[in-house]
Amino acid sequence: MQWVKDSIKGLKAYNTNQRPFRIKLDANEGKNILFRDIISQGLRFEEDFYINYYPDNDAAKLREELGNYVGVNHENIMVGNGSSELIELVIKTFVDKGETIMSFVPSFSMYQIFSQIHSARFAGVERNEDFTVDIDLLIKRAKEINPKLILLCNPNNPTGSLIDKKDIKKLLENTDSLVVVDEAYIEFAESSIAREALKYNNLIVLRTLSKALGLAAIRLGYAIACDEIIEVLNCVRVPYNLNAITQYIGVLALKNKEKIHDYVEEVKKEREFLYDELSKLPFTVYKSYANFVLIKSDIEDLAEKLEAQGILIRSFSGDMKQYYRITVGDRSENLELIKSLKEIVNDEKK
Ligand code: PMP
Repeated sequence: MQWVKDSIKGLKAYNTNQRPFRIKLDANEGKNILFRDIISQGLRFEEDFYINYYPDNDAAKLREELGNYVGVNHENIMVGNGSSELIELVIKTFVDKGETIMSFVPSFSMYQIFSQIHSARFAGVERNEDFTVDIDLLIKRAKEINPKLILLCNPNNPTGSLIDKKDIKKLLENTDSLVVVDEAYIEFAESSIAREALKYNNLIVLRTLSKALGLAAIRLGYAIACDEIIEVLNCVRVPYNLNAITQYIGVLALKNKEKIHDYVEEVKKEREFLYDELSKLPFTVYKSYANFVLIKSDIEDLAEKLEAQGILIRSFSGDMKQYYRITVGDRSENLELIKSLKEIVNDEKK
């Protein structure tokens, strides 16, 4: 089409798997631990908010609650329609056409897509074979290329690997670039840099309620950064970007710290169970600090074979073709998954 701008020609729509399923382990969502409770309390329209007026543009109550949850001042928090909106907002705010965004690869696919949409160059720095990172290599490459933005996904999607906080600090102290640490899965790793974010004027931490709080459907993400960064992001943010219902549910959800903590502990336990069980099968299994586990398998079309049994996992293409990302389920889901995988492995031997 003649009107489409050059930078987005050839871009494919983000593929969300809407196929029917029995067990859904393909998108790293959390379990529905809070939403049902919140809904059963009833949404008190008009008492808590008005549906005919625009929502609070400052999301004051929600930011206060997020501040308590993370342990930072609410003034240093900005909220967004999922952390996806905030990744793009950061790029829109800081990266001009032709400037470079650097990240370890593989990582969250949206980093490259947003780079392309905003006509930025994307420079990928290879991970080690086991998907851990060499921070000195990244610092060296950043010195050579001088990227405007460095995006670190920690823990990393889709590999589950974690960058040591010491390494992130080393990078922050040895670069002129703005550094974004995407902590979408950090609750499952317990090594957040968020509380120290304000010590650095070149750091933005991004978080979400989609994973550890099981609230992917309400679309609620947040950024933590020093005053100056929040101020400039506020100039670019779409007015009223976070709807009133999401603000309302977010406030109620964040009060359940204990429940969130218990859920995270359960996921971590199940992750180790899944890791051990998967390791008994003919797969390479990667150590994960998130709510999913990455495996490598020679079995052709493994995801389709599982899907035929009603179990969804995430497959990849290109360099990651033989890799599969499996969200950690509860015990019964994990047992079902392992049972199906064993059957598929046995069928391959025939
Ligand atoms: N960052 C990472 C690393 C993710 O995996 C995801 C979701 N898949 C997001 C950000 C976006 O999450 P949300 O928009 O739901 O907050």
